[in-house]
Amino acid sequence: MTMKNHPAGGCKLPAGGCIAFIGGTGFYAAPFLDDPQEILVETRYGPVRLLKGHKFDREIYFLSRHGAGHSVPPHLVNYRANIAALKTLQVQAIFAATAVGSLAEEMAPGHLVILDQFLDFTKARIGTFFQGEGFPVVHTDMSDPYCSFLRRELAGSADRLGFAFHSSGCYVCTEGPRFESAGEIRMYGTLGGQVVGMTGVPEVVLAREAGICYAGVSLVTNYAAGISPHPLSHEEVVEMMKKNGEHFLTLLMAALQTLPPQWDCSCEKRPEANLITTMPSSEAKG
Ligand SMILES: [Zn+2]
Repeated sequence: MTMKNHPAGGCKLPAGGCIAFIGGTGFYAAPFLDDPQEILVETRYGPVRLLKGHKFDREIYFLSRHGAGHSVPPHLVNYRANIAALKTLQVQAIFAATAVGSLAEEMAPGHLVILDQFLDFTKARIGTFFQGEGFPVVHTDMSDPYCSFLRRELAGSADRLGFAFHSSGCYVCTEGPRFESAGEIRMYGTLGGQVVGMTGVPEVVLAREAGICYAGVSLVTNYAAGISPHPLSHEEVVEMMKKNGEHFLTLLMAALQTLPPQWDCSCEKRPEANLITTMPSSEAKG
């Protein structure tokens, strides 16, 4: 497969025609894409490599959050570059997959959770595009961080497929790369957290700032620290993803197949979102 810089301008299809998948732990490839092509998008935050292909008359981009072979740890993922690249490509919807630990007994290993809220316990990440640097001061509404329309589409698809899933869930994002202490997990549970991971934030926040509809689907790989009967390991997470990871693909394909050309949703799309690609150094180079 040849790598090429993506020509500036992005999506040539009508609104709703360009969709992105972000894969997390155990979800590194996109075998479902027709005519896959590796592309490179330059952003003011750094270059981003992703796959471009087609499916169901749509242009699909696949971005591996942790890079090839899980080489980038959660706290060092270049979240701003990733979302800026998708904005440059004029993506209108992002389906993002994450592997999570569960704090809630009913969210058992193997279950899918369609997220509706998050609690942000990250510590050392830049969580916004609006960081000065020529951008105005912007306070983005985050009442409903995940696109309500895409969530309904995913839940409908998961239901039709007969998957064990939860149509809502509160995602706790920790800094990582270490796992959580049992005391932290008890605290997150008290605060309303139901699943815990290391990559969902600021990704969802940046997508909203960029005016892109974003849906987060988590696969429960284990019970969290203090709930699980044994110490946590990354191998356990990868093993569970191997066993159930195809559920992500099946669900995303089903949702993609029934997704209408356009949709109404409550995602706030402020005019400032367009600044993310109109800043001179953020343009893709052809
Ligand atoms: Zn939306």
